[in-house]
Amino acid sequence: MMSEEKSLNFIEEIIENDLSSGKYSSIVTRFPPEPNGYLHMGHASSICLNFGLTQKFQGYTNLRFDDTNPVTEETEYVDSIKEDIKWLGFTWKNEYYASDYFDKLFQYAVALINKDLAYVDDNTAEQIAIEKGTPTKVGIDSKYRNRSVAENLQLFNDMKAGKYADGEKVLRAKIDMAATNMLMRDPIIYRIKHAHHHRTGDKWCIYPMYDFAHGQSDSIENITHSICTLEFIPHRELYDWLIEKLEIYPSHQYEFARRNLNYTVMSKRKLLRLVNEGFVTGWDDPRMPTISAMRRRGYLPQSIREFCSRIGIAKRENIVDIGLLEFCVREDLNKVSLRRMVVFDPIKVTITNLAADEIVHIENNPEDENGGNREVLFTKEIYIEQEDFMEVPQKKYFRLAPGQMVRLKGAYIIQCDEVVKDTAGNITELKCSYIANSKSGSDTSGVAVKSTIHWVSAKENVNVQINLYDRLFKVEDVDGAEGEFQNHMNSDSLQIVSNAIAEKALTKANLQERYQFLRKGYFFLDKDSTADKLIFNRTVTLKDTWAKANK
Ligand code: ATP
Ligand code: MG
Repeated sequence: MMSEEKSLNFIEEIIENDLSSGKYSSIVTRFPPEPNGYLHMGHASSICLNFGLTQKFQGYTNLRFDDTNPVTEETEYVDSIKEDIKWLGFTWKNEYYASDYFDKLFQYAVALINKDLAYVDDNTAEQIAIEKGTPTKVGIDSKYRNRSVAENLQLFNDMKAGKYADGEKVLRAKIDMAATNMLMRDPIIYRIKHAHHHRTGDKWCIYPMYDFAHGQSDSIENITHSICTLEFIPHRELYDWLIEKLEIYPSHQYEFARRNLNYTVMSKRKLLRLVNEGFVTGWDDPRMPTISAMRRRGYLPQSIREFCSRIGIAKRENIVDIGLLEFCVREDLNKVSLRRMVVFDPIKVTITNLAADEIVHIENNPEDENGGNREVLFTKEIYIEQEDFMEVPQKKYFRLAPGQMVRLKGAYIIQCDEVVKDTAGNITELKCSYIANSKSGSDTSGVAVKSTIHWVSAKENVNVQINLYDRLFKVEDVDGAEGEFQNHMNSDSLQIVSNAIAEKALTKANLQERYQFLRKGYFFLDKDSTADKLIFNRTVTLKDTWAKANK
């Protein structure tokens, strides 16, 4: 584990130098999601980085929806993205949309044409691709490259006016068809697309390409440090060229490695397929690596922030162990979770010598000195887990067995006196006796037992459904695994326990509290739960059982 005093990461170093040299007096970053899906853990890493930097150094962060592609964006995604960032605990200074800049971007394109640095090309996409050459072969000039400024202005305005069909013409920057960087070989900066846009409606039928929108938007917002992932390294030259030629505010691009987690996929395109093809119930299915899924599952935002801080940032791609995220989640949940007793697979126990019901007091959270106690009714009939009883105990089995004793959490030591079976030989009930002076907290019995088990009164309880989640995929490196990712799904990723029996206190379960079901794991009320049907999601197990079972 890393120490508390962490050294600066490479982007922090750059920023510290920029501030101390006086290049900037404060910094501005942005988080620029494309609203074509829900945010996932990779985005969380980028959010923590961008917002974290402006919290640490002086400055602010904008939220900018990169909505230049009219076809895929939806308002549902915009809303979910905002909810997720807020839930993670960050506040943006301004909410912007790249589409707000469409007029400005159009003017920028006109400015380039006026400088004879852009031209309208009538070639087909195929022809343009052929003429582009290859990394080892220089490209050739389009026959439209030398159109006059006046003609280009006319044609570009005609494109905007809707005179042409999709793909009939494009606007290209006039740079260098022999450039080593393929992206500098007269990149397309505007294309025709007759499509409705979620914000600008039908105002536009030409849309700027990523490279002609992103850096310009950064510049319009005076972003000082524009941070993106490694695949944009080759784009940096074009980013700088456009800013220089347009003579606009010089934002700078920096790159860090995309974050991936094991046992899952992290691209929105693939997550959308999981949703559309019914592998999960939605973007917030608790098995998904999305922020909304983690929220629904019961993760705390501070655990995600802590995880992102621990993994830091890197210059090389690698796969991060989801076990570390779960470790961070457990650490936080252990501190705040209310302890409750829930029996998943009940067997009835009758305490034959208990004369009357009794109230016992059980601590809510041993980790919290202000956690207090709750009253639990201890009754003649209770339920315990089937697995906490063995008719023929193995060696070192310290729970209940004929003639063997165990402690009931917060209550008494009991001994199993008789095993009751039905005609088919199935165990239907255990008859036990309790030791009257063995009450937890005031035990004078002198009897030592090696195990404490949870239990629920048969008189006061509530039936609940439990959703047990496991890894969505069987393989660690899903993207690297052979064949389609759907072939690697874990068919046991959801196990439903439909008739668990919970102690009465859980009838008041709500979406503010976190629970630890004793000996079972951490749980959180599902958002689709109703008063008549309580549903709990397992947030995380008590220990890392996956690593053990699969190594
Ligand atoms: P996806 O491939 O999942 O669609 P994306 O990069 O296309 O991801 P955007 O909405 O364009 O998603 O990303 C918004 C910001 O989040 C970008 O700055 C991007 O670099 C960052 N980001 C996206 N995925 C990751 C990741 N796995 N790790 C770190 N940062 C990421
Ligand atoms: Mg994208």
